[in-house]
Amino acid sequence: MDRIYMDNAATTPLEEKALEAMMPFLKENYGNPSSAHTFGREVRKAVEETREKMAFLLGAKPEEIYFTSGGTEADNMAIVGAARALQDRGNHIITTSVEHHAVLDTCLALQEEGFEVTVLPVDQHGMVDPDDVRDALQDNTILISVMHANNEVGTIQPVEEIGRAARESNVLFHIDAVQAVGNLPVNVETLNVDLLALSAHKFYGPKGVGLLYVREGTKVNRLTHGGGQEKGMRAGTENIPGIIGMGKAMELAYSQLEENTRRMESLRDRLIQGCLEMEEAKLNGHPTRRLPGNVNVSFEYIEGEALLLSLDFKGIAASSGSACSSGSMNPSHVLMATGMSEQTARGAIRFSLGRHNTVEEIDYTLQAVKESVDKLRSMSSLYQGKGER
Ligand SMILES: *Cc1c(COP(=O)(O)O)cnc(C)c1O
Repeated sequence: MDRIYMDNAATTPLEEKALEAMMPFLKENYGNPSSAHTFGREVRKAVEETREKMAFLLGAKPEEIYFTSGGTEADNMAIVGAARALQDRGNHIITTSVEHHAVLDTCLALQEEGFEVTVLPVDQHGMVDPDDVRDALQDNTILISVMHANNEVGTIQPVEEIGRAARESNVLFHIDAVQAVGNLPVNVETLNVDLLALSAHKFYGPKGVGLLYVREGTKVNRLTHGGGQEKGMRAGTENIPGIIGMGKAMELAYSQLEENTRRMESLRDRLIQGCLEMEEAKLNGHPTRRLPGNVNVSFEYIEGEALLLSLDFKGIAASSGSACSSGSMNPSHVLMATGMSEQTARGAIRFSLGRHNTVEEIDYTLQAVKESVDKLRSMSSLYQGKGER
């Protein structure tokens, strides 16, 4: 069997049709869209068509879309830009303990500068309680930032309700929708969001490009200085092939959303069920409110990292619940935030399925996981000693 890719939350392969759409802009259409001549104007036209298309898919207006270098930049622009623009009104920001580092570390950097940051807890499924958001609101709150869907455990947050709470209290609401866009319907009106970040390479578009939606009338300070691109909000010549490819990828994702969701959910549930049939395995994240492709399971008595390497040896690409920082393995902040033990967090492995995965791959993976888990446990002193505790 060919190698099996189940790490689509880290990145996805580029869709052929997106690549085809990009090609002319890597070759003959090389004009700078800021130039007034025909070379430039043709490229400008293609960029603006993409902006209109993506705005439409998000329920937004083209003027509310700012192209960026990806999700991380869009999150930074939203949070830092809004915080700076509103600092005479207040300095309190609310976020959650399960955010991506692009949000969490940005908020913590603002805290170093004197902003007050409330990091809300989550329940055992990784869910934020909208009442906790309401309770955390203060007179000086200027921004709430909550992710739409979690990249590690797949939990889909009640963003619509949190958006209502934000709107009622006149506080800006930012969502990191990087994992949601292309996998779930995302509409800035139904979700009541003011700021939204997305990234092309998570929905089969190219790497290094994304966008920030900024609701009309929302004040956000620019972070980069230079040319007047993106209405002065994001200086620097645009990543034209990237923008074109992103637009095509998003269009494809939403034209096949229902069909892809159904297929992926069925593969996901087959993999989850097979994993949970194994001894001392536990599902992480929410049992039902989860991304269509997310499987995150902890196997007691083993290290997820060891399982990852064992599966890689068998040709299967997954991800573990640990992050390597300064040479040692730390259990993920998301898993720890759900209240599990460090040992269970260390035993976690994430399979993020994509539209190319098949039933045969799921069954092969289940067999491989079983073999690897049995082998690792046979070498684990924790497992050997468990009867004696
Ligand atoms: C991947 C990811 C990001 C970062 O996006 P980049 O385009 O890689 O910078 C941010 N948030 C979430 C939830 C992600 O999954």
